[in-house]
Amino acid sequence: MAKPVLFAVDDEPSVLAAVTRDLRRHFGAGYQVMRAGSGGEALENLRELRLRGEVVALLLVDQRMPEMTGVALLREAMTIFPTAKRVLLTAYADTDAAIRAINEVKLDHYLMKPWHPPEEMLYPVLDDLLDDWLANYQPIFEGVRIIGHRWSADGHRVRDFLARNLIPYRWLDVESDPEATELRSLAGAAEAPLPIVILPDSSVISRPTVAALAEKLGLHTQAESRNYDLIVVGAGPAGLAAAVYGASEGLRTLLVEREAPGGQAGTSSNIENYLGFPIGLSGGDLARRAVAQARRFGAEILAPAEAIKLESQNGYHIVTLGDGSTVTSQALLVSTGVSYRLLDVPGAERLAGAGLFYGAAITEALAIKDEAVFVVGGGNSAGQAALYLARFARSVTVLVRGRSLADTMSQYLVERLEEAENIHLRTGAAVAAVDGEQSLEQVSVLDVASGTVEGLPARAVFVFIGAAPHTEWLAGGLQLDAQGFVLSGADLQREGKRPRGWSAEREPFWLETSVPGIFVAGDLRHRSTKRVASAVGEGAMAVQFVHQHLRSPMPEAPGSIVHIGADR
Ligand SMILES: Cc1cc2nc3c(=O)[nH]c(=O)nc-3n(C[C@H](O)[C@H](O)[C@H](O)COP(=O)(O)OP(=O)(O)OC[C@H]3O[C@@H](n4cnc5c(N)ncnc54)[C@H](O)[C@@H]3O)c2cc1C
Repeated sequence: MAKPVLFAVDDEPSVLAAVTRDLRRHFGAGYQVMRAGSGGEALENLRELRLRGEVVALLLVDQRMPEMTGVALLREAMTIFPTAKRVLLTAYADTDAAIRAINEVKLDHYLMKPWHPPEEMLYPVLDDLLDDWLANYQPIFEGVRIIGHRWSADGHRVRDFLARNLIPYRWLDVESDPEATELRSLAGAAEAPLPIVILPDSSVISRPTVAALAEKLGLHTQAESRNYDLIVVGAGPAGLAAAVYGASEGLRTLLVEREAPGGQAGTSSNIENYLGFPIGLSGGDLARRAVAQARRFGAEILAPAEAIKLESQNGYHIVTLGDGSTVTSQALLVSTGVSYRLLDVPGAERLAGAGLFYGAAITEALAIKDEAVFVVGGGNSAGQAALYLARFARSVTVLVRGRSLADTMSQYLVERLEEAENIHLRTGAAVAAVDGEQSLEQVSVLDVASGTVEGLPARAVFVFIGAAPHTEWLAGGLQLDAQGFVLSGADLQREGKRPRGWSAEREPFWLETSVPGIFVAGDLRHRSTKRVASAVGEGAMAVQFVHQHLRSPMPEAPGSIVHIGADR
């Protein structure tokens, strides 16, 4: 945390040097001492400090300066740092101006020049003022600040990205937080489209893309090498486990993740059934621990970086990333998981992120405080989300299309939902439409049996209606089942025959896809269990098959690139 600032301003270089030296000598251990030679320069520096999130404890300002008097400077400076103590350096002739300034700019003290010896004339006064300042000082947040509208989809996207990448941020609502308006104009971005993001180095980006934000924040998005023993695409539990086991067993391992490590599990507020955590753990915590563990063993993690194309040549697999670069390996694991299916009703596309969320959207928990919200879906993730959201919202209504939850949700969750006072269960109900001007205001609920539709006020709807696999980047390459999940091992064999185009001498390993050396693990796999523990187990197992594959003879060089999947 940066030390608070003592800021001295004088147009005479020798006086400025002397006051700065004296301040450093006595206060240097607890404060940074900064200086400027004119009022204009001082204001520019103060604005910059404010944008960087630093704090000024004291302004020590000469009254007689050519461009701007000390009092005029303090008047401006107090709009930037209202709590800084204000001290004027005066000559005898300026005493009247100083006395007037006590009312005008709430001057805390004026000092006559020269102030020697400082032990008697300067330090006691400033010690006293700074003690007073410290007593009321609350350290301010130094990380990323986001200014935007509470229910804007772009604001949600930026917050979600930062939260899932474990980057602390402070959210300032432009409609209700005066500091938001003030910072916006200080940043010279009063008219810039929202959200704007102010970074710790005081630079400002308006409506940033995730890639721009990642670059500004210095996230690792470019591979250090072109070749690896193992590339893992997708850093959910399956991919993270594979990275931990791969790297710990000596494989040069690259993990590629398009959003943030953790995958779906990273969005879960509390995973209660993962072995070894009797009171559960949050998905964010699981992801943080797994990332630290993978890095400790030497795995390289690229995030955010999206795999958009896959090709194979001479037994090597070539992955093209979103920025056009390529990485190559002999063994590849696809663990790109699934994400929630989109709601196909009027208004859903327009309001996505602006009150309509897919998944639990933990970042929105505070925004829904005391609001009425809806959860759509009857699976475990919907149940978990309802319990989590009920800690913040006034009421949570769970809409389930079926007549009962017994077949789709674990019994322990059903019991908890029934016990919670502010959770209401509506079975036989589905969303017919969502409405709202800038953000979600109403949800139309269809009673499946009678066909009647009822409009209910709602601030947020969280959707959990089944999962679609992330295989778009593999299009046409690997063999998939009818729902788009990746086939592997014995599931590839038809009537005892090896899969079409299979080029290896051996049978496919369990978890190996229709292309030798490409494996699949986790939710993306045909008939997988859709559990964190299973994904982790498959990720770990896949690494054993990777070793066996790397030991087996390479296929004859076909001489040309075998096209696996296309960029979109
Ligand atoms: C809200 C919620 C609560 C849950 N609670 C539990 C629970 O309590 N217990 C339990 O056992 N299970 C739970 N689950 C299920 C569990 O999270 C999943 O089974 C598990 O995360 C699957 O892991 P995975 O690694 O296969 O895939 P995912 O977790 O889906 O991860 C896939 C990753 O791949 C990335 N990706 C996708 N495409 C690309 C690409 N082209 N390039 C790069 N990266 C890509 C994605 O961004 C994602 O990070 C929950 C799921 C949700 C959503």
